[in-house]
Amino acid sequence: MNDEKKEKTCNGYEAMYTFLSEDDFNKHLEVCEACAKEHARMQRVSELIQEAKPYIKEKQKQSRILKSAAAFFVVAFATLSIPVYMAGANMYDNMVAQNTLTAQELGFPVDEYGLLYVE
Ligand SMILES: [Zn+2]
Repeated sequence: MNDEKKEKTCNGYEAMYTFLSEDDFNKHLEVCEACAKEHARMQRVSELIQEAKPYIKEKQKQSRILKSAAAFFVVAFATLSIPVYMAGANMYDNMVAQNTLTAQELGFPVDEYGLLYVE
């Protein structure tokens, strides 16, 4: 029953991620194939964040920084995506497929375990 609404309510993954509440965003993913696909890519970043979580959990105030880091990833991806989409979707897909997207490869500081290092 949501089929009618799914396209016209979507303003693009970044916009939906930014402006919807977590619940609404998750609901949107269920009805919007494009965003669901994009979200799958973003999950790789989330996995990195999740791996880093136990490491920094001792210092609880850093969870706020962690969310900032996640937001930064989203912004960075959104920014990088624009020129790459213009260069061609195939190129983008190849790049994503071949890129393991470790924090280190993305140029972010990592600790000795290769996890995202948050100061
Ligand atoms: Zn969407």
